[in-house]
Amino acid sequence: MVTYLDHAASAPMRDEAIEAMLPYLRDQYANPSGSHRFARQARQAVDESRDRVAAVLGCRPNDVVFTGCGTESDNMAITGAVQRHGGVAVCPAVEHHAVLEVVEHHGGTVVGVDAAGRVDLDELATRLGALADAGRTVSIVSVMAVNNEVGSVNDLAAVRRVVRRHAPDALLHTDAVQAASWLDLRQVTPHVDLLSLSAHKFGGPKGVGVLVENGGPRIDPLLIGGGQERERRSGTHNTAGIVATAVALELTDADRPTENDRLALLRDQLVDGLQAALDGVHETLARSEKVAGSAHVCIDGIESESLLFLLDEADVCASAASACASGAMEPSHVLAAMGVPHERALGALRMSLGHTTTVDDVERGVDVVAAAVTRLRDHAGSAPVLSGSGRVSS
Ligand code: PLP
Repeated sequence: MVTYLDHAASAPMRDEAIEAMLPYLRDQYANPSGSHRFARQARQAVDESRDRVAAVLGCRPNDVVFTGCGTESDNMAITGAVQRHGGVAVCPAVEHHAVLEVVEHHGGTVVGVDAAGRVDLDELATRLGALADAGRTVSIVSVMAVNNEVGSVNDLAAVRRVVRRHAPDALLHTDAVQAASWLDLRQVTPHVDLLSLSAHKFGGPKGVGVLVENGGPRIDPLLIGGGQERERRSGTHNTAGIVATAVALELTDADRPTENDRLALLRDQLVDGLQAALDGVHETLARSEKVAGSAHVCIDGIESESLLFLLDEADVCASAASACASGAMEPSHVLAAMGVPHERALGALRMSLGHTTTVDDVERGVDVVAAAVTRLRDHAGSAPVLSGSGRVSS
């Protein structure tokens, strides 16, 4: 029996999304860009899916661009803005690597966060102001909606006010890849110019992303070729994946209010259970500061890598975000930016809940994690019982 507590890494596909894909894999396989009837049917399926995705996002269908993954959407937003407008790209230090490394690649500016992992608005204002004073334009500011490691939520309306005031020409992008299950995206989209999603985080297939270009195209395309997606993203459409994405997003949107309540209770049961069973389990963020499915803790006296190894042996899927660089354990860049002490961060464990999570998962999760931590603590000081697998992040 597998206990899957890793929805933030990838959520199991929804059955309805799988069913929706099958006809487009088996029978309606034509290229949607073709001119014959079968191609036109496939094109209609893509366009209907675009309408359905736009309805959940609260944007115009023409502003929805289908991409190959969340990473591509993030890259397209940042590289596309820098290429089109020149100037500096800016993001907070806790962004997913799909944003952070692109901003750094373009020589951009990285700003700090508060103890809850939200962008520091004062520092953002100061850094944007300093760039303006130095005569430098800002092409794009990218601030994630929900953090993938600790589940913190940025106030994008407040971010927008700062950006409009101190860098009025900059585009505002949000990586909303971790947001679809928890936030009403209609309340997010109006605050930003660009928004990235990834279907496999909300019960759709891997290999489909969305980039919303709110108010029309203002960035350069990343992929150039056949001119699909109105010249914004060339490459043959993944018809089956796009159809399934729309189905999964609609279901996620419809279930969200009840799932937020259900999963917050299960998350609390999971963390309370661990804290009752073990000393030294620190919840990284207060529950009011994070999304319902996020159960991130730091556990004293253990290293994440060893814990994940034991959990894996017991078929419990969870995650951490530590890197083993040059033989020395490095805690996650997110926890470091939040100011979590190095020692504490080495014992990080991310358990993330989602649409398939049950009470049984939570009860088994508590039992297995508690037993594994106890075993590791009992062995502390003697020869290591196991070794971890390196970087675990998503
Ligand atoms: N952004 C965030 C916040 C993520 O959690 C992920 C997932 O790993 C990505 C971007 C990348 O998405 P994808 O796996 O679709 O490339």
